[in-house]
Amino acid sequence: MTHILHRQIHAPLPVAAGGSGIELFDTEGRAYIDASGGAAVSCLGHGHPDVIEALRRQAETLAYAHTSFFTSEPAERLADRLIASAPEGISHAYFVSGGSEANEAAIKMARQYFVEKGQPQRRNIIARRQSYHGNTLGTLAAGGNEWRRAPFAPLLIGTHHISPCYAYRHREEGESDAAYGQRAAQELEDKILELGPDTVMAFMAEPVVGATAGAVPAVEGYFRRIREICDRHGVLLILDEVMCGMGRTGTMFACEQDGVRPDIVTIAKGLGGGYQPIGAALLSRDIFDAFAEGSGLFQHGHTYICHPMACAAALAVQEVIARDGLLRNVREVGAHLRERLEARFGNHAHIGDIRGRGMFLGLELVTDRSTKATFEPDAKLHARVKKEAMARGLMVYPAGGTVDGVRGDHILIAPPFILGRPAAEAIVERLGEALDAAVAQVR
Ligand code: PLP
Repeated sequence: MTHILHRQIHAPLPVAAGGSGIELFDTEGRAYIDASGGAAVSCLGHGHPDVIEALRRQAETLAYAHTSFFTSEPAERLADRLIASAPEGISHAYFVSGGSEANEAAIKMARQYFVEKGQPQRRNIIARRQSYHGNTLGTLAAGGNEWRRAPFAPLLIGTHHISPCYAYRHREEGESDAAYGQRAAQELEDKILELGPDTVMAFMAEPVVGATAGAVPAVEGYFRRIREICDRHGVLLILDEVMCGMGRTGTMFACEQDGVRPDIVTIAKGLGGGYQPIGAALLSRDIFDAFAEGSGLFQHGHTYICHPMACAAALAVQEVIARDGLLRNVREVGAHLRERLEARFGNHAHIGDIRGRGMFLGLELVTDRSTKATFEPDAKLHARVKKEAMARGLMVYPAGGTVDGVRGDHILIAPPFILGRPAAEAIVERLGEALDAAVAQVR
């Protein structure tokens, strides 16, 4: 009998007892390869001695100081470090406790920016249908995950959605990536014109869509066009890199690979690697100046912003990634993992697409590769794959997303950056067995 309201009330969970490197262990002594980093969180794996030591030192020195009285050394150092590697124009960091809080702050930053600038009529947010930006009311409203939104719809602020950039399903026969990218981006301009450009405050998007789609990057040129459209209409571009940022795709920020500069970029999961809850909204000099020259404050705040323990953990995680050259490993072993996935599933009858970047990879499940038909949603194939994988000592992150009315199943793979080649091979082997066992249950 548990007194925790778990995510799934009727599905008992194993009890996690410990972790080391890329593995987690339960109290029954079973080991699991953490091929999803939980939910793309554990970028350094588990039990990293340098992070543990940094946490111990910080706990002994200063666990907490409220931000209306003090700043702290780990928070200042973490901000310096992040800004030094952030996209052009980004000048300040706002530290919170997770991804939803980071996006909630980003939405409020965008709104306050226009209030400070004397454009209070700018209130509309545009996002994409295939997106997840968090579970707080503001971020839930921004996201396009229909299943998560449905029960709360009457409570959500009005937001507007356009199509995702989803080449596997939306690029037309014979259409080039470049042409498709321009067409998909044009929907943003059409929506801005429909709403009235002077009413739109921000466009929000994940550079590589994670939880709702299974690692879907945009096609070449899409985000550059999005940036042009935002600039033309004075709309802020908020990039949600909560899942895909902090090195997961092989570069510190995923948007570097799209050649695009955001006004605000949010990060979380891999920032603290799971060692502490932490997220951040990184904002541009222009937004900072509007606050500094206007009201002199950002009208927001939580008890735990800039938490010293969380910032110390994140600082240690980011220092280890740089010191050990782990982004290179993300690119090299990520490429190997992808090759192995393609070798195993490239001709699999029920894998329609293999995609992603770095160590952020996705598989899309279909009943038929030629029609791309999806499995019956009620069969919950993605959940079956997860269960079968767990039975084989493997953690993968399944998702069932709805895109323009079509519900599909995806599997997300997001292992720790320390992954080696033999472990990459073990992941593919166990996933292959799990997938075949799960499909056999629903065919
Ligand atoms: N944004 C994206 C892209 C995410 O994937 C998530 C979580 O999965 C969030 C925001 C919300 O983050 P959190 O669960 O830390 O609140």
